[in-house]
Amino acid sequence: MNVPLLDLKAQHAAIGADVMERVRAVVESQAFILGQPVQELEERIAEVSRARHAIGVASGTDALLLPLRALDLAPGDEVITTPFTFFATAGTIHNVGARPVFVDVDPVTWNIDPEGVAAAIGSRTRAIMPVHLFGQMAPLERLLPLAATKGLAVIEDACQAIGARRKMEGTWRAAGELGTVSSLSFFPTKNLGGWGDGGMIVTSDDRMHERCRRLRTHGGIRTYHHDEVGFNSRLDALQAAVLLAKLPHLPAWSAARGRNAARYDALLAGLDAVRTPVTDPLNEHIFHQYVIEADRRDALQAHLTARGIGTSIYYPVPLHLQPCFAYLGYRAGQFPVAEAAARRVLALPCYPELTEAQQACVARCIREFFGRQEPL
Ligand SMILES: *Cc1c(COP(=O)(O)O)cnc(C)c1O
Repeated sequence: MNVPLLDLKAQHAAIGADVMERVRAVVESQAFILGQPVQELEERIAEVSRARHAIGVASGTDALLLPLRALDLAPGDEVITTPFTFFATAGTIHNVGARPVFVDVDPVTWNIDPEGVAAAIGSRTRAIMPVHLFGQMAPLERLLPLAATKGLAVIEDACQAIGARRKMEGTWRAAGELGTVSSLSFFPTKNLGGWGDGGMIVTSDDRMHERCRRLRTHGGIRTYHHDEVGFNSRLDALQAAVLLAKLPHLPAWSAARGRNAARYDALLAGLDAVRTPVTDPLNEHIFHQYVIEADRRDALQAHLTARGIGTSIYYPVPLHLQPCFAYLGYRAGQFPVAEAAARRVLALPCYPELTEAQQACVARCIREFFGRQEPL
């Protein structure tokens, strides 16, 4: 049975006609840059994130880059983040001329370890950038007070966590609600994906909002008047139209991902060689990815590939060991949890349209690899 890691064609078959209708309206308007659809999407996404403002930009990467630029960091200023994330998290820190400072992750959730963050804060630290990895939020209730006492910004990399929530002091808080500023990605494979690149900055900080809005249009709100040097980083009206058509489906898609995750948990239970993902009880996980840890991971992946099952490794090389960051002076062995995760993780198909038969097939093939063909 063929089971892709993600099946966007299945999603398109279900909702494509609605999306095309919105796209056609933009094409007929011939107004492609910013405009009404982008503004409407900004309002909707601000609501989802429970933030005052949202700013549509060209990618999730730019949704990190512009807020970092708005912090006016000096060369040598430091931003603390995780080494176990997509490259853009640290790449953007480098690209604004600051220094990424890595701390190891929690072995259960693989999110940044707040004790490591506390120990890494120094005189040059200006911001903390937690990543809500795979769709569950980092422990902001521990990071925000740390940042507040030291006067640091908190930039949530929420690119994998749109709609995720965490219970803090008894109240459910959304990804993007409490950080100084947060980034979302609409890369096609994300839980809310466009038909191309796209991203959004969310913030309740009026000054951050104003700076980012200016930075996305070459540093000037009034055309041909430039207060600073910015970027050309706008969300397309066409992408906004696609995303507006998809957004109403997001809660149901996230719920379906959660059901798939629970089903895998049951199907893979009792298999000693596999650790299924653990949701922090304070989190509402949106399962952007369902990631297991497995013994003999690479051989397992090859076994599944041979049976038509798509998997992926997020992430095979932690960022402190990437050649481009050799100048930072980190060595292998420095972040053992992230390094072990890089050797052991494997993402399984978990997309909303995945059928029970497909899931049973994935689980059966995993059991087959480990030589335990128990009845399912
Ligand atoms: C996808 C992603 C990004 C970047 O998003 P793009 O839209 O691809 O630029 C940044 N951080 C994380 C954690 C991501 O998963």
